[in-house]
Amino acid sequence: MFHAAGRPLELRRFALPELAVGEVLVRISCATLCGSDLHTYQGRRPTPTPTVLGHEIIGRVEALGPGDPVCDDRRVPLQIGQRVTWSIAASCGRCFFCQRDLPQKCERLFKYGHEAINERHPLSGGLAEFCHLAPGTAIVSLPEALPDLVACPANCATATVTAALRVGGGCSDQTVLIQGAGMLGLAACALANSGGASEVIVCDVDENRLELAKRFGATRCVCVAQGAEALGTTVEELTDGRGVDLAIELSGSAGAIEAGLPLLRIGGRYVLVGAVFPGPPVSLSAEQIVRRWLSIHGVHNYAPQDLSRAVAFLAENHHRYPFDELVTETFPLVEAERAFQHAIKTRPLRVAVVSG
Ligand SMILES: [Zn+2]
Ligand SMILES: [Zn+2]
Repeated sequence: MFHAAGRPLELRRFALPELAVGEVLVRISCATLCGSDLHTYQGRRPTPTPTVLGHEIIGRVEALGPGDPVCDDRRVPLQIGQRVTWSIAASCGRCFFCQRDLPQKCERLFKYGHEAINERHPLSGGLAEFCHLAPGTAIVSLPEALPDLVACPANCATATVTAALRVGGGCSDQTVLIQGAGMLGLAACALANSGGASEVIVCDVDENRLELAKRFGATRCVCVAQGAEALGTTVEELTDGRGVDLAIELSGSAGAIEAGLPLLRIGGRYVLVGAVFPGPPVSLSAEQIVRRWLSIHGVHNYAPQDLSRAVAFLAENHHRYPFDELVTETFPLVEAERAFQHAIKTRPLRVAVVSG
């Protein structure tokens, strides 16, 4: 249980829930700590408390609620013991946003790893032995050949990038700029590369991450630690001065967004993903957006179809790119506190917490 920043996580036992119609109990095998878990843990992001943190989760179906069978994304009834991951949030299917193709913004959204513990539903996060899935959760079966540590970040990092590329109109034969080479940026490089992008340009302030990006399919890596000038030159050279077709912003930095927009070609698309924390306002030229026919789109959470695609992508491509190197350390559940301390101190791409 997480209570507040600066207070150690508490180990607590809860009775297993009585499942209602449409609910599923999963025995968790693994959870990876996402950047937003670290932000919450450090008090830089508000969350209802006490809560069970962790939303990048995989596990095996332990029990199924009564009533009609609960199905996976292919409409196949779930079986006890089946290996699964699930959408970061459950949606009601009936509200204003659910009916307008935005289930990820449901008015009654139930978000794993972000819900206050209550008597009826204490087990809603990844740092536990079990997770209690609500009706309206998109559940995706995992192929047995996909290793735990590769599959685990799928339902946050990989699915979010899949959504960004979908919203960005795909990347076949496109020049794609990816700003930020963290977990999402590396997945974006691999998705763009396997999706047929003609160039995958990635920028970051960290040389080691850029080195890794090459192995994830980046064709040009530019360090922007000293400013965005070199990035501008690279884009200019590669596109005959026109600019990139598609840019995906994953760093959340206001400066990166201001630097990114002028790098788009006329008619280019800009997908903003990284700015999930309050930051300074960004200064953009409305005239340039108008004259240059630019599209800017935000992506937060993702739709169930994005998770299905993310898992299918990993199943097909995890040998092609070094996804198995991204989780650098594994801790047992009883040492979850140490996992956070380690992640904050050494800033690896991911650490994992395993149950049992
Ligand atoms: Zn996350
Ligand atoms: Zn809804």
